[in-house]
Amino acid sequence: MLNTLRSIIQEVNSARDLDQALSIIVSRIRDAMGVDVCSIFLTDEHQQQHVLMATQGLQADSVGKVRLDFKTGLISLVAARAEPLNLADAQVHPNYHHSDKAGMEIFHSFLGVPIIHHRKILGVLVVRQKRIERFDEDHENFLITMSAQLAGAMAHAKASGETDLLLKQHDRKHDARPLQGLPGAPGVAIGTAVHIYPSTDLDAIPDRKVTNIQAEIDAFHHALASVKQDLTTLSNRLREVLPSEERRLFDAYLLMLDSHSLRGATAARIMEGNWAAGALRATIEEQVKVFMDMDDAYLRERAEDLRELARRILHYLLRDVQYKRDFPEHTVLVGEEITAPMLGEVPTERLRGIVAARGSRTSHVAILARALGIPAVMGAEDLPVQRIDGSVIIADGYNGNVYISPPLHVITEFERLSKEEAALAADLLRLADVPSETQDGKSIPLYANTGLLADITPSLNTGADGIGLYRTEFPFMIRQRFPGEEEQMRIYRQVLHAFAPKPVVLRTLDIGGDKSLPYFPIKEDNPFLGWRGIRITLDHPEIFLVQVRAMLRASAGMDNLYILLPMISRVAELDDAITLIRRAHSELNEEGNMLAMPKIGAMIEVPSAVYQAANLARRADFLSIGTNDLTQYLLAVDRNNARVAELYDTLHPAVLQAVYNTIRSSHQENKPVSVCGEMASDPIAAALLVGMNIDSLSMSTASLNRVKWVIRNLTQERAREYLQAVLLLEDASEVRSYMNTRMEEMGLGGLVRAGR
Ligand code: PEP
Ligand code: MG
Repeated sequence: MLNTLRSIIQEVNSARDLDQALSIIVSRIRDAMGVDVCSIFLTDEHQQQHVLMATQGLQADSVGKVRLDFKTGLISLVAARAEPLNLADAQVHPNYHHSDKAGMEIFHSFLGVPIIHHRKILGVLVVRQKRIERFDEDHENFLITMSAQLAGAMAHAKASGETDLLLKQHDRKHDARPLQGLPGAPGVAIGTAVHIYPSTDLDAIPDRKVTNIQAEIDAFHHALASVKQDLTTLSNRLREVLPSEERRLFDAYLLMLDSHSLRGATAARIMEGNWAAGALRATIEEQVKVFMDMDDAYLRERAEDLRELARRILHYLLRDVQYKRDFPEHTVLVGEEITAPMLGEVPTERLRGIVAARGSRTSHVAILARALGIPAVMGAEDLPVQRIDGSVIIADGYNGNVYISPPLHVITEFERLSKEEAALAADLLRLADVPSETQDGKSIPLYANTGLLADITPSLNTGADGIGLYRTEFPFMIRQRFPGEEEQMRIYRQVLHAFAPKPVVLRTLDIGGDKSLPYFPIKEDNPFLGWRGIRITLDHPEIFLVQVRAMLRASAGMDNLYILLPMISRVAELDDAITLIRRAHSELNEEGNMLAMPKIGAMIEVPSAVYQAANLARRADFLSIGTNDLTQYLLAVDRNNARVAELYDTLHPAVLQAVYNTIRSSHQENKPVSVCGEMASDPIAAALLVGMNIDSLSMSTASLNRVKWVIRNLTQERAREYLQAVLLLEDASEVRSYMNTRMEEMGLGGLVRAGR
């Protein structure tokens, strides 16, 4: 059963389009289950109908014609209840609706299961039999599993507008609902989607229509000849050193290169109008499937050889294509995974936005995007990357939403917002030189979060009062090995120097979780609950000490260094880290330096640290609340998982309580406390933090002046009133709506969109 499932899914995933995918599904399920009929109904919300879109067993010409409104028939009952319906005789059920168009009257037994993605009904999958008999449990389980697996593929099709097309609406209704991803970098980008992919990743190659068929055929043959040449040369070179057994692989490769199944099948696909790379991918997918279905393990492994061969052909095919691409004026790069070098391929003035199916806010590319001021959405898992090249696309980097081929009114609305945003940002620049203080005189310094040297200049220009969080892991991530003391020292010194005498908070290495170093791999089942942050550096004092020495030496003569320790979950960790820092400090001074002891802070980003905030504050010089992690740990919501992104909200009353408690505990010990997670950049949260008596806030540069505007329009007294009201609320959405109204009243409505 499992193999059947897997092979159906594989076939569906390699289907040319949704229409073909649906036909594959119904015919393969009918065969696998041995039933008389298998059909798929898709839900057409515009028309409020379920429409028969594919069938095996009913009259073929009923496809697209059988339309059941939301109240009619058993299909609607399955959709409305969102659960399977298994009947021995459908015709005696009170909801039975007989549609003679499809010749359904001869079927009695009925098993229908809803196709649901993210709580939304996409359609219904149904099987029928002539005889009167309930389907057994195996059948029911198979169909439920099948439908759950298909839901993802169908959601892709829906997002790319294919479902609408298929529903045969004459004027294609664009989908106004967005695809959910994760906010990567703030801002809104409207432009043309340009699919970008790693040139050697076969699976990532999209289909692309071409008109010059001959040129593609020539390119394909040329690539084949080049690979053949390479393989022959290699095989000859290895003749002396490789056993003949091993060299046979080369012969096998050469045979495959000449085989009709590769050469002929790819050429045939090119003739149908696909470009050579797309045609090659489709051929290889088909062939790999044949190998994978074989029972013989040796032959199954040959599938990998085939893929390797294809990668070599692809290398020649794509050598120059990517670089020769014409990027539209408003390019929004889309891809399964977008890497930093890919950004470099697009002329800067044309790059408007980034949308990636994988990754999160902490991915390297998201950090770069924030530094460059380019809106980005990450982790948009349902992004139909293969099919959206050239579509109009909107990336809303504030909320992590993506709109593909949206209706005109959505485009107009975003264009308006985008203009307002630009005007607001220009207007807010005038705030760069004024202090961040409330109308009743409470000063709340605003610091910048960074991790890249490229970030320093914009932070200085927007008037940041210092750096509140320098994530040192980024210089570590972009290297091939741990950077040495001198190398680190130079980087830290540039940052400390650029801001001196303003404070610069350097955080010690915070790897683990979702941040790994290519040269220090960590494999764990639950990385966010595993070896992370301070736990790693305390286990490797040599790494920690080198870093701390580099920080201390970098601060020579400037006295503006603050050291922040990530992921503290027990007081002993803070004690041990302070001991090591003191040791490094005294050793350096013994070596003849005259370095001041830096202020040491603990991050509060784990629930246990919230409860022990007073104990930690007593030991440290300051606290800094990392709301990104604190929110995920308090709410048990992975901060990088788009599927649960809706549950991730820093305005959740539990998060607000935890932050408030931490601030009070820190003040009890007369220690300053800051917020350096994303919460600080949400104007609504910032207003509440002022009410909680926060001492400073740290955020990405792009949000700095907005937050300053909020602070300058508030009195602390009013902020406290808001806080008192909000603390009585029970849900994040209530908090948001209450605060939205208050912001409108203050004339700060324009900022509300930047929330979350
Ligand atoms: C946080 O967790 O809020 C934080 C600031 O650190 P990071 O996002 O780097 O984990
Ligand atoms: Mg953190």
